[in-house]
Amino acid sequence: MAALTPMMQQYVQIKEQYKDCILFFRLGDFYEMFFDDAEIASRELEITLTGRDCGQEERAPMCGVPFHSADSYIAKLVNKGYKVAICEQLEDPSEAKGIVQRDVIRVVTPGTITDTSILDEKKNNFLTCLYKDLEGIGIALVDVTTGELYATQFSHEDYKAKLMNELARYCPSEAIANKEMIDDRQTCKLLKDRFNCYVEYFYDWSFDLDTASKKIADQFKILNLNSIGLKDNHHAVRSVGALLEYLEQTQKINLSHITTVNYYSTNNFMDIDISTRRNLELTETMREKAKKGSLLWVLDRTQTAMGGRLLRKWIEQPLMNCTHINKRLQAVNELFTNNLLRQELMDSLKNIYDIERLLSKVIYGSVNCRDLIALKKSISYLPEIKSNLEKCDTSLLKEMYNQLDILADIYQLIDVAIMDDPPFSVREGGIIKEGYNEQVDQLRRATVEGKQWIASLEYEEREKTGIKNLKIGFNKVFGYFIEVTKSHLSNVPERYIRKQTLANCERYITPELKEIENNVLGAEEKIVQLEYQLFCDIREKISSQLDRIQKSAKTISAVDVLCSLADVAQKNNYCMPEVDLSDKIIIKDGRHPVVEKMLSSNMFVPNDTFLDNGDNRLSIITGPNMAGKSTYMRQVALIVLMSQIGSFVPASSAKIGIVDKIFTRVGASDDLASGQSTFMVEMSEVANILNNASQKSLLILDEIGRGTSTYDGLSIAWAVIEYVCDVKKVGAKTLFATHYHELTELEDKLQGIKNYCIAVKKRGDDITFLRKIIRGGADDSYGIEVAKLAGVPIEVINRAKQILKTLEDADVNRSSLVKVKQKLHKKNESTSEDQMGIFGLGSNEIIDALKRIEITTMTPIEAMNVLYELQQKARRL
Ligand code: ATP
Repeated sequence: MAALTPMMQQYVQIKEQYKDCILFFRLGDFYEMFFDDAEIASRELEITLTGRDCGQEERAPMCGVPFHSADSYIAKLVNKGYKVAICEQLEDPSEAKGIVQRDVIRVVTPGTITDTSILDEKKNNFLTCLYKDLEGIGIALVDVTTGELYATQFSHEDYKAKLMNELARYCPSEAIANKEMIDDRQTCKLLKDRFNCYVEYFYDWSFDLDTASKKIADQFKILNLNSIGLKDNHHAVRSVGALLEYLEQTQKINLSHITTVNYYSTNNFMDIDISTRRNLELTETMREKAKKGSLLWVLDRTQTAMGGRLLRKWIEQPLMNCTHINKRLQAVNELFTNNLLRQELMDSLKNIYDIERLLSKVIYGSVNCRDLIALKKSISYLPEIKSNLEKCDTSLLKEMYNQLDILADIYQLIDVAIMDDPPFSVREGGIIKEGYNEQVDQLRRATVEGKQWIASLEYEEREKTGIKNLKIGFNKVFGYFIEVTKSHLSNVPERYIRKQTLANCERYITPELKEIENNVLGAEEKIVQLEYQLFCDIREKISSQLDRIQKSAKTISAVDVLCSLADVAQKNNYCMPEVDLSDKIIIKDGRHPVVEKMLSSNMFVPNDTFLDNGDNRLSIITGPNMAGKSTYMRQVALIVLMSQIGSFVPASSAKIGIVDKIFTRVGASDDLASGQSTFMVEMSEVANILNNASQKSLLILDEIGRGTSTYDGLSIAWAVIEYVCDVKKVGAKTLFATHYHELTELEDKLQGIKNYCIAVKKRGDDITFLRKIIRGGADDSYGIEVAKLAGVPIEVINRAKQILKTLEDADVNRSSLVKVKQKLHKKNESTSEDQMGIFGLGSNEIIDALKRIEITTMTPIEAMNVLYELQQKARRL
């Protein structure tokens, strides 16, 4: 086979090292792709596939994109899950001897995109690194556009659920993992299904404890890992180390904006499992996956992109520490009460750009002067913010005052150096202000003088030659020239040197003109180079102060979130919850934060809640369809969650004892991706709740058991209530909505249960929803009435009524169930049905009686009599 051309050999060598990437190979003004890459790219990017002679018989398939518009093509490929390796020319082709030197300067992956135009500004873009062994799991997460790096770890037990729940806080767009993690195909597939996040293997050696520790110590310039809280957290160390290795291999620059690892324990935050996050629509709606309609949508009045991202994080991670929650609440309260202060802070905040992402551009070297002006403008508002924070009394805002560095030196640097309205490009001059650098000023003066001389030359030459329409012109090929129209050619002096002939004029130069031109053009070239050099120095200076700028950016984000929470509280009439370590949840006039926004003003009917770990552990909520049961239960969960992020809540008062986990089992989740039936999904969620809830948890259980037959469903619901209510088993505070009215009987049988229903008014066939939750059980489900209200044709409604009547008469419908149940409850009645065991009534009584017998004080005859009686009872079961 014929040898490849030298350039193609170079291509193949480089491609060999980046087999898993699409290689963008720089050729002049284009990035070209060859062979398989070309075929993939032409298909995915819808660009023409051509061919290039590669020295062999068949041409190499090829396609290409112009380098100046490459970003959008790269983004498109990365969004589709590809990695793109960018291979640049490392020397000027005109100066190269032989083949131009080329190498990959960066690999762009879904988790390392830095192009802010394609990233959601109010959302982090996380890359995660997972480590798994027989003892546990380590997770590291990084957002390269902001420099944030988080790490945690947990034990191996039940790791799949824990991993999913933890990653649900971050929704990573890319994952790398060690072999053992990759071998857990099921979990990796779930990651792909849930977060659209591919998990790829990364070298096991990079997870080695010593290698990883060294990597971390090198990155953060520390001697040991104590100082960043990682010392004994070996799983986290391994994942952070490997993550840094991956970044080094793909980003190929020193990511100095990643200044530390934030190690956290999963116990610091409220546990919210993945389906609960979805059900409660914390950051996006369940169906459309839109922000509008989510809790985040209601709470987000942040003025900056950084604040937007932080608010999302707070919502994803409600706190467990009472002191921290109250610190936030007090700060929100101060901003809530002091309208002027809040307004002034928000007015300043809205002028602040995304400093965190601007900083990452500094590190990646992609920052331009317009970005620096945006940074300067942002910094110019810091003194205003600081002086407003100075007036604050609460500890968190005072801390922020102390932390906020107004970065006067950075402002000064940009202000004196960079033009106020600089061009986009940093390589074409016009970016450095006058007075910043003597040499630039001198060169500029030289060009101005030269240009003035040239401008005056026109007048002088006209005078000298008498040619009235003589002109001085400029073009890129000939430089400056003197132009004379054909009719005046006879007056052209001999010292003019002819350079070009056009249709109706001739162009000339003179030695003096060329000399000045050389000075002008030479100076302009020098200025461009010098300005770029100065820009690089300024960029360097800014990057050396990165730590300080990042800290200020963090403070600003937090101020922004607190202002946003206070503002929302004001506008929506929220109250400050009292958060403590008690076991109570007492809400007066609670509202659903999102549903109330969707309804026209004041249409939402507020409701109270009282839950504790004693007599009010579990509320059984009945009521017709559409009455508002789900809304009510979700509202309680959201109010608790909002309290624990430090937000005010939609209620007239609220006292919230801190909750460790919220679980919801709401409606049928369409989890088709998991390949399980609706009922199976429902039951696995129930299993998860029963296995993981504690007394400090809040459970929202909506229509448990409805996915199966009535008897099975009722029995499961009944047994779940017994289990959840039992303090020795779960004992969690629970809201339990159901259409099984039979369950309301449990109020009298189990301690801790209270019945509630949502009131409706019935007149004839019509019902009116009152939306008010009241004590007691509902008398009916009004399913047919609700169907009528929903517009089901009257013919169907009437037929349904007929069928209902027949069923009732035939004693096989839900009323028959009631009757069956009534029979079951009649303790002495004999029944052939085995169902009794489910409810355990008779047998309980016998056991109780057995327990009460005082054998030591009985005569043998008395004992025989009691035994006979019990046996009779037992036989009747
Ligand atoms: P189903 O049993 O059919 O699931 P449900 O009882 O759970 O119904 P929800 O879905 O909670 O009913 O509520 C139905 C609608 O009623 C909501 O979409 C909302 O528009 C309205 N609604 C619920 N609660 C209230 C309230 N407190 N005030 C005003 N409107 C409400």
